Amino acid sequence: MSLDATFERVSLPLENPFTIARGTQTAAENVVVEITDEAGMTGVGGAAPSAHYGETADTVEAVLPDLLDAVERVGDPHALHEIEAELASVVNDNPAARAAVSIAVHDLAAKRLGVPLHRLWGLDPSAAPATSYTIGLDETERVREKAEAAVEAGYPVLKIKLGTDRDRELVDAVREAAPDARLRVDANEAWSPREAVDKSEWLADRDVEFVEQPVPAEDPEGLRFVHERSALPIAADESCVTLSDVPAIADRCDIANLKLMKTGGLLEARRLIAAARAHGLEVMCGCMIESNASIAAAAQLAPLLDYADLDGSLLLAEDPYDGVDLSGGEIRLGDRDRAGTGARPRSE
Ligand SMILES: [Mg+2]
Repeated sequence: MSLDATFERVSLPLENPFTIARGTQTAAENVVVEITDEAGMTGVGGAAPSAHYGETADTVEAVLPDLLDAVERVGDPHALHEIEAELASVVNDNPAARAAVSIAVHDLAAKRLGVPLHRLWGLDPSAAPATSYTIGLDETERVREKAEAAVEAGYPVLKIKLGTDRDRELVDAVREAAPDARLRVDANEAWSPREAVDKSEWLADRDVEFVEQPVPAEDPEGLRFVHERSALPIAADESCVTLSDVPAIADRCDIANLKLMKTGGLLEARRLIAAARAHGLEVMCGCMIESNASIAAAAQLAPLLDYADLDGSLLLAEDPYDGVDLSGGEIRLGDRDRAGTGARPRSE
């Protein structure tokens, strides 16, 4: 069988500048991969490189030719295990680049069989949890307005970025604007362990569900300290990058937050989910600022998750790809009768 592969960089302007404890971004550079079989059927996958994990659109484009050569060498788009193993052996690092290729191959394999990807995996589309919608850091009044707009748009779960000297003010503003919403907070490593424990007390009073990545990933003992004393469950994001991190976080948190751009592929993501469950952890899937070329693939995992944080494309001013309908936060996997991940160029 012969496969033909191409890739293209896409610049994605954000609806609003997006700020977290580490900095602000106004646009995201993704790279979209297309893999086409002899019959002209095409699988689509996106890379959303994160500088925090050492990747940029340039590093993705630098390794894609080798990764796509590996796919063409294997030749069979249904040989998903062989392809993902081959990708990891060709390029050890660069998980976003590998994820784009893994997604495109999975999309193609499911399309060739005429089924949505979650059906290929035997998953129940009605088991998908709602995705959260993220409120980035901003002036308190702007945060309040964004929370009001999110409630207006129907989002039942809001995630608030924290890690400032105004954390209480921000949470109170969102809680006032969204009295009925489920709230989660993400400190993106900005707190000290003692600060995190103190903050967990008043966050619990405001009916927050859990705290994501309170302390730096480089401080695993700090994470343990927080986990042992926190009034709220703790999710590990920056501390949970790949499958091999799962045993180490198992007694330091309650929830493993995976992302395709950290695991480097869909099969590896499913292995991480299984490993997290085996260690008694709950599972969440998050994302970067991403187009539907990759978000639609992450959404296919939703029935396996306790928590979904797949709003990457919802934060864009416009997305050149259409995917799974996430409007109002509900992940409607069964709604659009589409084989594969559901990602389609909007121009088609
Ligand atoms: Mg996070």
